[in-house]
Amino acid sequence: MAKGKVYLVGAGPGDPKLITVRGLEALRRSEVVVYDRLAGPQLLGQIGQAAERIYVGKRPDRHTMKQEEINQLLVDLALQGKTVCRLKGGDPTVFGRVGEEAELLKKNGIPYEIIPGITSAIAVPAYAGIPVTHRDLASSFSVITGHESPDKLDRSIQWDKVTNATGTLVFLMGVAKIGYISEQLIKHGRPPSTPVALVRWGTRAEQATLTGTLENIEAKVREADFQPPAVIVVGDVVRQREELRWVEDKPLFGQRVLVTRARAQASELSARIDELGGEPYEYPVIEAKMSEDPAVHEAVKAALAEAETYDWVILTSVNGVDFFFRWLELCGVDVRRLHRAEFAAVGPATAAALKARGIIASALPEKFLAEGLLDSLASRLKPGQKALLPRGDLARAWLPQELRKLGLTAVELDVYENVLTAPKDDFLLEVLREGGIHAITFTSSSTVTNLLEALRRSGAERPEELLRGIDIACIGPITAKTAEENGLTVTACAEPSTIEGLVQALVRCNQARNKRQ
Ligand code: SAH
Repeated sequence: MAKGKVYLVGAGPGDPKLITVRGLEALRRSEVVVYDRLAGPQLLGQIGQAAERIYVGKRPDRHTMKQEEINQLLVDLALQGKTVCRLKGGDPTVFGRVGEEAELLKKNGIPYEIIPGITSAIAVPAYAGIPVTHRDLASSFSVITGHESPDKLDRSIQWDKVTNATGTLVFLMGVAKIGYISEQLIKHGRPPSTPVALVRWGTRAEQATLTGTLENIEAKVREADFQPPAVIVVGDVVRQREELRWVEDKPLFGQRVLVTRARAQASELSARIDELGGEPYEYPVIEAKMSEDPAVHEAVKAALAEAETYDWVILTSVNGVDFFFRWLELCGVDVRRLHRAEFAAVGPATAAALKARGIIASALPEKFLAEGLLDSLASRLKPGQKALLPRGDLARAWLPQELRKLGLTAVELDVYENVLTAPKDDFLLEVLREGGIHAITFTSSSTVTNLLEALRRSGAERPEELLRGIDIACIGPITAKTAEENGLTVTACAEPSTIEGLVQALVRCNQARNKRQ
């Protein structure tokens, strides 16, 4: 069998966007991804569902894989002919043991590539507003491991040289040894007043920074119970933070948001969350599909065969527009045959989807709800008129009922089906259990029910309880009602019912959460 290939990829410090373009390409191309906790599990959203994921990090219920076992695993997978991506936190060559992995691959004649990443040693201080060098403050920096026991540290680090050789000192894996490290640096000549910063989980929602001096930092770390992983920065550059801090000032800083809407539609919401300093966690629980039911096909065909007879085409979602046009195409119906019809859209996104197809909606309600649409059309809806309502299979019955009450003929058309997806995500339950999700967005009633079902299928017996304490932000009152009926407590509702309205609801949640803390 032909041998596979192994990409040893630096994933960057945590923010999934801080991987290199080449690293991302390798990740997407791979059939197996071997990852651990530092190598942003969220990057896994980038790989196809078919790719295998192997977690080799620490787990409470299982022993951690030893480095030798990981080395061998990479070889075994490649010998099976697979393309493998070994994702490593930060840069693979900075305390990443990539040398050992590459060595064994080489020995076995397996081709590999080492794809650099952004090391936490530089990126994490930068996210705290600390540049590791500065024209006036530090013209060099060192990156030092603090992981070993003090006597080993003494053997591997020449403290007298380290202390005095360079400007900024950056310690990785050093939190547990902070007292010892400060003591050595003072002993060998750094002033006790030298500024020190510890930055934990830099570039992620949990980013937290503690500052002090060589003299008092150990006490501060203890007092705050400041846990690893953190980067320790020692030197005058730390003072820059007072002026340069930036991440913490964004409105969604510290908030990791579960985005449940369909993958095809999630990107706009995720991009806005990201832009405002939050961390989107995409977990699409719903997907729109064309029905495979022959009865549905017949019904749509029959309805479209009478295209000339409609006075109204009323669209209540972007999906409705997309799939309606797919059906027109599939049935070979020219849109101009709907010449009599006025088009109405329930919200601006739906109207924009129509506009992209050359159709200007005649009415847009003030409130982006079916109820609002009816209000704004009221004077123009006449008994005897015929309205076509292309929609999803889960659409509410309210609008057609009201149209019928007004004497119109309402033809409901299931142009798409909402199906539940429960993407495999071993990591999500863990993150939820650890309180790592701070807010959830629901953009329709089905995202509520589907998320609960998806979590049940993933092994959560009481998903409502798992979600307790998490801010719940809903696109509108109907979705909020569904959430409440399903045992969730809604924290904020979008006003207006648009994606931007939802993002602003998240901002309100974050402000309230910051006040509570
Ligand atoms: N190869 C990695 C470093 C691996 S050693 C890199 O280049 O970044 C692991 C140590 O890196 C941790 O103990 C911690 O000191 C640091 N680290 C990695 N990611 C971090 C993050 N997001 N925030 C703070 N420290 C981080």
